[in-house]
Amino acid sequence: MKRTYDAIVVGAGPAGSSAALTMARSGLNVALLERGSFPGEKNMFGGVLHRMTALEEVFPDFWNQAPLERHVVQKNLSFITEGSCFNVSFDSEEADRPPYNGYTIFRPRFDHWLAGEAVKAGATLLTRSTVDDVIIENGKVAGVTLLRDEAQLRAPVVIAADGVLSFTAKKAGLRSAEFSPSNQGVCIKALIDMTKEVIDDRFGLVLNQGASKEIVGCTSGVRGGSFLYTNYDSLSLGMVLELASLNEKGKTPYDLLNAFMQQPQMAKLLKGGRLLEYSAHLVPKGGYDMKPELVGDGIMVAGDAAAFCIVTGLNLEGINLAAQSGVLAGKAAIEAHRQRDFSKSSLTVYRKMLEESFVLKDLKLYKRAPQMLHNDRIYSQYPELVCSMMDEIYRIDGKPKDTMTRMLLSKVKKTVGLKNLMADVYSGWRAL
Ligand SMILES: Cc1cc2nc3c(=O)[nH]c(=O)nc-3n(C[C@H](O)[C@H](O)[C@H](O)COP(=O)(O)OP(=O)(O)OC[C@H]3O[C@@H](n4cnc5c(N)ncnc54)[C@H](O)[C@@H]3O)c2cc1C
Repeated sequence: MKRTYDAIVVGAGPAGSSAALTMARSGLNVALLERGSFPGEKNMFGGVLHRMTALEEVFPDFWNQAPLERHVVQKNLSFITEGSCFNVSFDSEEADRPPYNGYTIFRPRFDHWLAGEAVKAGATLLTRSTVDDVIIENGKVAGVTLLRDEAQLRAPVVIAADGVLSFTAKKAGLRSAEFSPSNQGVCIKALIDMTKEVIDDRFGLVLNQGASKEIVGCTSGVRGGSFLYTNYDSLSLGMVLELASLNEKGKTPYDLLNAFMQQPQMAKLLKGGRLLEYSAHLVPKGGYDMKPELVGDGIMVAGDAAAFCIVTGLNLEGINLAAQSGVLAGKAAIEAHRQRDFSKSSLTVYRKMLEESFVLKDLKLYKRAPQMLHNDRIYSQYPELVCSMMDEIYRIDGKPKDTMTRMLLSKVKKTVGLKNLMADVYSGWRAL
């Protein structure tokens, strides 16, 4: 089978469907290729869909159209040890009004919907279509081959939006080196069934309000963190763990997740819930320095395939960067068609647009975050320090108290050490 299109998009995740939607709306004949039996079938995340300004241009009342669970009004950051939990909470009325700042979603529903919008705009969605290789002619990418039926699909421009492992970018020679395990996080998630009423009562929510919780500690020293998000009538609970660190410490993700779920303060939040499913996925956490070549002759790379993910410990942003980069790649392809020039130099406009957008600006801003998060003290000694300080502050046991400064200094000396604390504050300040 041989077919020709104006553009081919590999992968119907947020990056790919945003690119296909953008191009189809301008009248290009677009093929959107997805290996799953429907878009989203293979996809999972935490997760909070952060505000997607790129898509709000297309769907001005995005929150009324997309399949969303809850909008997030309450953000929590917690430090936990095996028996205690220190929680910082931010609750905002501003976040309770549209356009909302973030939503909890399920990827199978959301990705299915977004790809459907690309199809409505005129894109051709081909599911169960795994791209096997890129066709290169005269040094330029000229299409792709599919595993199924040895089909060949041709187009003057291909957008690789096939996620974190992007074999398309690799086969096109845009990513030469193998990923380092310290640049990859494995994310595991448990979905817990719980009624809306119980969730609302337990987290102090009303109507469609949602809460998110980022958690530091309880990873047995493995570099990584945990999360808990409220869906309409379920909870998503999981961990993002650095592959290299898991290997160094000889730990398995499921043992860590099980221990985390049994931690007393977490167990209280999960009480009465029923485990529905487990899932796992990789996440690119290397930041700005991990990105491949973004443009080649006849090809551009978007979303996780380009390592457009920001992991700072406070937030995990990926979908918003994926959608924005997909839209910009789509716009660059439209311009290339107008100029009838699909060379690398013509498509470099994509990189320029990324540099002017929040995508590369934010990735550059947080360039030092991956290095900062490589610090083992964050995952064990700091949660211990914070929780033991709070324990001492609130403990009234008939013993004379110490001044806050002396108490803090003594705790710091016993845990991280003063020099390390100063070095870590400096590195955190530079990274964030
Ligand atoms: C556990 C976890 C928690 C996360 N939490 C958040 C969060 O809270 N907020 C946030 O913004 N981001 C979060 N992220 C990151 C976010 O999920 C990604 O950044 C985002 O999904 C990237 O979108 P994408 O379209 O680039 O890639 P993907 O979503 O990976 O989509 C790629 C698509 O390509 C398809 N595909 C792959 N290979 C081929 C092939 N050869 N041929 C055809 N199709 C192919 C796949 O099936 C898939 O549909 C999280 C990630 C994980 C794993």
